[in-house]
Amino acid sequence: MPSPLETLHRVFGYSSFRGPQAEIVDHLIGGGDALVLMPTGGGKSLCYQIPSLLRQGVGVVVSPLIALMQDQVDALLQAGVRAAFLNSSQDFATASEIERRLRSDELDLIYVAPERLLTDRFLALMDHLQERNRLALFAIDEAHCVSQWGHDFRPEYIQLSALHQRYPTVPRIALTATADQLTRQEIIARLSLDAARVFISSFDRPNIRYTVVERDNPRRQLLDFLARHRGVAGIVYCLSRKKVDETADWLNEQGIAALPYHAGLDTAVRQNHQQRFLREDGIVMVATIAFGMGIDKPDVRFVAHLDLPKSLEAYYQETGRAGRDGEPAEAWMTYGLNDVVIHRMRIEESVAGDEQKRVERGKLDALLAWCETAACRRALLLRYFSEEAKPCGNCDTCLEPPELWDGTVAAQKAMSAALRTGQRFGAGHLIDILRGKATEKVRQFGHGELPTFGAGTDLDEAGWRSVFRQLLAAGLLHADAQAYGGLRLTDAARPVLKGETTLSLRKQASRVRGGGRQRVH
Ligand code: ADP
Ligand code: ZN
Repeated sequence: MPSPLETLHRVFGYSSFRGPQAEIVDHLIGGGDALVLMPTGGGKSLCYQIPSLLRQGVGVVVSPLIALMQDQVDALLQAGVRAAFLNSSQDFATASEIERRLRSDELDLIYVAPERLLTDRFLALMDHLQERNRLALFAIDEAHCVSQWGHDFRPEYIQLSALHQRYPTVPRIALTATADQLTRQEIIARLSLDAARVFISSFDRPNIRYTVVERDNPRRQLLDFLARHRGVAGIVYCLSRKKVDETADWLNEQGIAALPYHAGLDTAVRQNHQQRFLREDGIVMVATIAFGMGIDKPDVRFVAHLDLPKSLEAYYQETGRAGRDGEPAEAWMTYGLNDVVIHRMRIEESVAGDEQKRVERGKLDALLAWCETAACRRALLLRYFSEEAKPCGNCDTCLEPPELWDGTVAAQKAMSAALRTGQRFGAGHLIDILRGKATEKVRQFGHGELPTFGAGTDLDEAGWRSVFRQLLAAGLLHADAQAYGGLRLTDAARPVLKGETTLSLRKQASRVRGGGRQRVH
């Protein structure tokens, strides 16, 4: 058997493995299961392609994205690998021919859509391969699609645990670029990957500069931003189709070559716009999040968000489409209180169960904390993915540190309100206590008797919200998932509470201008 490195040279023409690739490949060749968390562009494909070539039989790759399947298979065929795909875009004759080649061991890699994989027909085919020991491995790409709380849930993915039950000896590799703790745990649980070795790559994208601006006049702000990026390709994300259309029209009036993209457009129009974005220079794609999954354009120079995304994972995914060539790129977002109101309403009004709502609230809070941070945005983003990092020098807060105030006393008040009420209440109730509001809940729990009751009338409600979010962001408070989002103090909170250290907080003043009319719930 040739070595993985020889195969890397000979088939793919690369000189060395990148990051954890070599270890992952060895682990799979040895028959182990793996969970691979690697950012977009990190090189996930080789992690299963090479073991598929080196193990006996065919590697079965589950992928939800038809367009991406086609691209991957085309690239593999070019490299001389015997690869094919099966999905709903093919006619019967083509699919039958591929099945025949599978049965007669003429393929090294087969890409299959999840709904196809679990049909009786395909399972029977795999049984036939397994009888002769011809299943090299299962690769589950975009494994976060199994997460019901993620941004990309695919019900068929849940059923993929059946693979392990049916073919327990075939090694499995699940891959994703989404790496927050919760999604990670869900992937492991739902795909029965408890015994899998977990490989985590750094999620840092050092060439992307992160900037968040307080929204006051979004169109002018966007235009100013685009003036710094003339003639290059970029994506402008909006929440609604209507806003996409209006923004694209308006940009064209301003002399910027912009195209709209959203699920409400004809397929032909969408494809045309996508092709133009990929092929022509300097197109600005104005889009909903329907655009981007599986778009492999290396020289996207910026990703701008006119509206707040759903979560930090979503934001990371969306901005990750910028600068895949490693050259400097910018991730820029306008943010206002409206966003908070809209997203909170979206969560509260959804038909989701309480559990899911709680998770979504937690994700939104983490994103808001990130928007409000006075610390390095990159470091905070990476910490969200459980990765420690130093201040980066390439984000707005590093480059232009925001104005700060000494928030030690405010933080002490906030934390003592949490402590004295048993660390099981959310910010809303604690703020009512601090502001001395005798609400029904305050009366019910006798919280009007606490020394902290009314101790915080020096800040308004928005000011306190900002304090709480920053405490969450700094890791001094933790929203306890087990206690319905109740705020608990972490070990890091003690020195501040005891007055052994001071705490700087970001000034809230400019925020009032951005959305002072709105009340946040
Ligand atoms: P992902 O699926 O993680 O987004 P890909 O597998 O598509 O990433 O790889 C991203 C790019 O990096 C591809 O162009 C791929 O050919 C290249 N690449 C991956 N591994 C290596 C390597 N070891 N050496 C050089 N280039 C690599
Ligand atoms: Zn930074």
